[in-house]
Amino acid sequence: MQEYRVVSSLQPVRGTHDLIGEDRRRFTHVVETARRIVGLYGFDEWATPVFEDTRVFSRSLGDTSDVVSKEMYTFEDRGGESLTLRPEGTAAICRALVTNGLTQSLPQKVFYAGPMFRYERPQKGRYRQFHQIGAELLGAAEPLADAEVIAMGRDVLQGLGIAHDVVLELNTLGDMASRDAWRTALIAYFSERRAELSPDSQARLERNPLRILDSKAAQDRALLADAPMIADFLTPDARTFWDDLRRTLDVMGVKFRENPRIVRGLDYYGHTAFEFVTERLGAQGTVLAGGRYDGLVAEMGGPATPAIGWAGGIERLSMLLEDIPAEPRPVAVIPMGADAQAAAITVLQAMRGAGVRAETSYRGNMKRRMERANRMNATHAIVIGSDEIARGVVQVKDLDSGQQTEVPMDGVAAFLLSGTPKKA
Ligand code: ATP
Ligand code: MG
Repeated sequence: MQEYRVVSSLQPVRGTHDLIGEDRRRFTHVVETARRIVGLYGFDEWATPVFEDTRVFSRSLGDTSDVVSKEMYTFEDRGGESLTLRPEGTAAICRALVTNGLTQSLPQKVFYAGPMFRYERPQKGRYRQFHQIGAELLGAAEPLADAEVIAMGRDVLQGLGIAHDVVLELNTLGDMASRDAWRTALIAYFSERRAELSPDSQARLERNPLRILDSKAAQDRALLADAPMIADFLTPDARTFWDDLRRTLDVMGVKFRENPRIVRGLDYYGHTAFEFVTERLGAQGTVLAGGRYDGLVAEMGGPATPAIGWAGGIERLSMLLEDIPAEPRPVAVIPMGADAQAAAITVLQAMRGAGVRAETSYRGNMKRRMERANRMNATHAIVIGSDEIARGVVQVKDLDSGQQTEVPMDGVAAFLLSGTPKKA
């Protein structure tokens, strides 16, 4: 006989979780709702691999970003290549746009959903394997594209029934010239206060001072109130873009709050930056966030391609859901005695073929099987014995009312779907 070694201490890896029952249903509801709504905007779903050449992320996120410097799951595979479990979806979608030769067929409107991996300190709403829904609109430079993508995010939250708990915070990062001027001012401001900055932000100071604005360290946040604002550095073009975007959002009826502190963590963002935030999840309050990233496709080796997108955390969105649609209740098929087994299986498969959720017990007497039918919250029990088989009928018992109806064997599905018996 085969011997099994018993491993008694296996647990899911820190920061990962199983999705079972209600958790899984909430999760699925988020993805399916998003899928339906982005379809209304003409977005198609793409799926890219869970791991990529490390350069897809190190190049795109820049090696000063927290994600690249501290959070990536990077490993060498058996062939000696450096691979990384994807920490986010945008870079992979841009890589896929380029490697599939789609930079000539723009715009592309892309939706994705799947797991992401970051080595973070696990806490409520923050995991090491988490999941995102995301949307990218590649190949459109107009503020209307930004407005559509943001409106679509709002519609997803509305479709999930959580829009009333979430506020859209919006900012502009301006164009390159605006950001250069702003960066210079930020470096001057923070350099004077260097000693008060967190060690992380001291390191960010030369390479990417914008990121200090995104810092979660309390000592950094204390310095932000008086820091230079992008609004004072916008070029006329950048200002026109910003005005257009806000006007279009007004036309679309998308409410927002301007927040000059929204910067997005990554290097390649410009113009639009936004976050949908809630107060219901404590420190992990951002449920869906995004912005414009006109430089990223070029960094992946493609032609300069303007783009805008967002990503939403499925776990955080799931936590906000109130009621999710209930699973359909099954019917239970119950054979009386071994002789009725074959007929019961035939009815069972006919139910499923007609689109009725149907289950049967694998063992047990009539009483046990009835108990099980009630436990699975079945709407009906379909009881079949040798007398029924001889007459070509079944007994359909409504488990809510207790009412029993004799129904022809080939008319059960029609009866269950319409509620009236079909005469033989
Ligand atoms: P945060 O500021 O919370 O770290 P982020 O700026 O790193 O978020 P993004 O890279 O913009 O997050 O990802 C988009 C969304 O994905 C976030 O708004 C959040 O809802 C979700 N998310 C990001 N990291 C995690 C994580 N470790 N666990 C669960 N959800 C996450
Ligand atoms: Mg983060």
